[in-house]
Amino acid sequence: MHQLTLAEIARGLADKKFSSEELTRVLLARIAQLDPQLNSFISVTEELAIAQARAADARRAAGETGALLGAPLAHKDLFCTQGVRTSCGSKMLDNFKAPYDATVVARLAAAGAVSLGKTNMDEFAMGSANESSYYGAVKNPWNLEHVPGGSSGGSAAAVAARLLPAATGTDTGGSIRQPAALTNLTGLKPTYGRVSRWGMIAYASSLDQGGPLARTAEDCALLLQGMAGFDPQDSTSIDEPVPDYSALLNGSIEGLRIGLPKEYFGAGLDPRIAELIHQSVKELEKLGAVIKEISLPNMQHAIPAYYVIAPAEASSNLSRFDGVRFGYRCENPKDLTDLYERSRAEGFGAEVQRRIMVGAYALSAGYYDAYYLQAQKIRRLIKNDFMAAFNDVDVILGPTTPNPAWKIGAKNNDPVAAYLEDVYTITANLAGLPGLSMPAGFVEGLPVGVQLLAPYFQEGRLLNVAHRYQQVTDWHTRAPAGF
Ligand code: GLN
Repeated sequence: MHQLTLAEIARGLADKKFSSEELTRVLLARIAQLDPQLNSFISVTEELAIAQARAADARRAAGETGALLGAPLAHKDLFCTQGVRTSCGSKMLDNFKAPYDATVVARLAAAGAVSLGKTNMDEFAMGSANESSYYGAVKNPWNLEHVPGGSSGGSAAAVAARLLPAATGTDTGGSIRQPAALTNLTGLKPTYGRVSRWGMIAYASSLDQGGPLARTAEDCALLLQGMAGFDPQDSTSIDEPVPDYSALLNGSIEGLRIGLPKEYFGAGLDPRIAELIHQSVKELEKLGAVIKEISLPNMQHAIPAYYVIAPAEASSNLSRFDGVRFGYRCENPKDLTDLYERSRAEGFGAEVQRRIMVGAYALSAGYYDAYYLQAQKIRRLIKNDFMAAFNDVDVILGPTTPNPAWKIGAKNNDPVAAYLEDVYTITANLAGLPGLSMPAGFVEGLPVGVQLLAPYFQEGRLLNVAHRYQQVTDWHTRAPAGF
């Protein structure tokens, strides 16, 4: 039963082949048995899951239908869940039980989805490896010595290991697409403003966006349907109608213009990944897509700009964790300054402290113009590059990551080496565009992802291309040995 996709589960539940409670119990048992190897969960909410599953079964028995009614999933542990610990992967929030549900959590619960728990993540979503969590590193089910990617690495590892059919994630600079690529999943970062950020603990507010991680594009469509839509409680949420994503999956891609940015295939890309990406392009050509070379000339400036803007916003967002109102407080503070200093020094891990320092520096008087303002100008240039490219093409295609998953610990002493892994993903966040990663093959037994980018609010187009590709390839159906 654990091999079923969300779409298959929806059919099975509708046909009364099994109940949501039965399925939920099977998956909870799998989590108990297998997750000790992976560390993909921070909290498993067993009782709540059973109660939600029973409620979903009762709703179905009363005649209600819906693709997510009774469907099991889990939330990245930065979506607030009422009465349940919401840690953000940090000691700072280890004792924090959210007093309310994030909009994403509330909407999925209202659709009848069953939440099995909260998944592990890089502390405050800062990372590309899931090694910075206070709760320990997450392991990649394809090779337990390797990272699953980050920061939504717990969600990715759990879905890849068939502990769950799908999970939520967030993507500030690649944290849905990159772990999806490194664990053989399909992951979608929606347009900025498509999915509400209300109740999603902020890292960098102008870049953060929630989205689905699942095994197929078809399942991402189902989950996105439950997450997307205007939310008056989020001032950056956009009031744009939500299409029926599942209905868009099967459209023909005959004549679709796909742009390959030449900057995405330069030095730094593992040639074995380049080869797999070119193979995926050939498959899409067979389906009728037309390939064009394009250029995104400012891409080389994306990493420096992102690693100024994201830490700057983080330093501001994380100032609320001061040991006073909620979260971790140090023992026996001498005075108020000591309380602030020690609560933050003891509550935040090394990577978070590094980002706060970089961000506070970039925003400080005298340096603001030199760093933050420059970075914002680069951001505009990157957006302009995309706007120009989308005059000529419908979708942009390239690798999701320059390398397959690296060994746990391999980049620990070199934060910049880890930052460079984000080179292909962060531009979409800087521009606010939707992006999707889907399985494209393997290098030495480790999965590789191909990334698709589209114009604003064209999530349906991304899902359509990915779905058509997944109908003629089987990379996405492969499961890691032992899971
Ligand atoms: N790796 C990037 C960072 O560390 C992106 C993380 C994310 O998308 N949350 O900031």
